Amino acid sequence: MTSGPPGVGRPRVRWRGRHPMSFGGPRTTCETERVKYVICVPDGCADEPLARLGGRTPLEVASMPTLARLAARGEVGRAAVIPPKMAPGSDVGNMSILGYDPARYHTGRAPIEAAALGLRLGPDRVAYRCNLVTIGPDGTMVDFAGGHPTSEDAAHVVRDLDAELGSGAGTGVEFHAGVQYRHIVVAPASWAEAHCVPPHDLSGHPALLPYGPAAPRLIELMDGSRAIVGASPLAATQVWLWGQGFQPQLPPFVEATGRHGALVTAVDLVRGLGVLTRMDVVEIPGATGWFDTDYEGKRDAALRTLADGADVFLVHVEATDEAGHAGDLDEKIKALEAWDARILDGLVEGLDSLGPWRLLLLPDHATPIERRTHTTDPVPYLLVDSEIEGPGGVYTERATAGSAPVPGHEMLGRLLAPGRR
Ligand SMILES: [Zn+2]
Repeated sequence: MTSGPPGVGRPRVRWRGRHPMSFGGPRTTCETERVKYVICVPDGCADEPLARLGGRTPLEVASMPTLARLAARGEVGRAAVIPPKMAPGSDVGNMSILGYDPARYHTGRAPIEAAALGLRLGPDRVAYRCNLVTIGPDGTMVDFAGGHPTSEDAAHVVRDLDAELGSGAGTGVEFHAGVQYRHIVVAPASWAEAHCVPPHDLSGHPALLPYGPAAPRLIELMDGSRAIVGASPLAATQVWLWGQGFQPQLPPFVEATGRHGALVTAVDLVRGLGVLTRMDVVEIPGATGWFDTDYEGKRDAALRTLADGADVFLVHVEATDEAGHAGDLDEKIKALEAWDARILDGLVEGLDSLGPWRLLLLPDHATPIERRTHTTDPVPYLLVDSEIEGPGGVYTERATAGSAPVPGHEMLGRLLAPGRR
């Protein structure tokens, strides 16, 4: 948000009834209706042409009639959600989508996940992501997810780690239990300087230890964890530290935009961004971060929250990204079609009943099926205004390939202040 708050305090004014300048008629009313804004994020939905689809992409083959209708009356283009030289993660991409330039604000992924756990870091503290991992006797990273323990089982072990190596041992280090194999270590600022390899990048390969000034302390802690994790019933053998950073200083969304924002997601990184920007994070029971997520529940959360007074609502669905990582083409197409039938269709109808609205749809990065990981490529975006007909287009990678990419963090401004393009 380097260019100042877009669209602050500029509610659209609509006249209802007879024109106010007409004489002699019944009294007219001037209603100030605030426009409702929705941001739709099908995580990782963008892809590449696939031979098994005859050179088409999942977005091109999925049946998405509502999306097609919206694109035909909106504006499509490409957004560079991942700034140059930055890693294509959901932390970076979603920060862009919320209007914050990651090149300026991003400090690491762990502090965002720490925020999702309700941790606030002082300036002298650094957060590390702490995976429970399984490393084989020959030093191979066998499982970056440590056999997928339940959150409850993992929490016992994390508590023991904190007692023996962290808070209980006066080391200045704290272990905080998160979800399943994903936990957080908070350490003194002097622990920050190290290069750490994400464990999911090491699957089946030698577990490459951290290097850099703080590496000896990290390695000591990781080594020390073996006795405790190894003695537990978990399949994990130790902890793995990575993704460190100081707490990012993100101006609150309402101050940056003049709009009250809220979001729904099952993913800690997105939830953490909501916490750090002081948006309302709406929790629904059926949000799983998986193919079986409650699409209608997210749609209804958006409509309910907007009706209750929020101006901006972000709907994040992880399923398309998980399908990309799994290389599961059928699930990716199914997730796209679920977006259309189970979110967009009813969302448009519900928004129409609330008044004027604008919608932005784009993923936080691409997760191509063949690559099974994220890429830095610009992604297609769609902007729709309920009252202004756009140039129209088709929402696919191919149809937008010729557009000059817009920096991702500028898309929010385009959503909120359409006249300032
Ligand atoms: Zn992903």
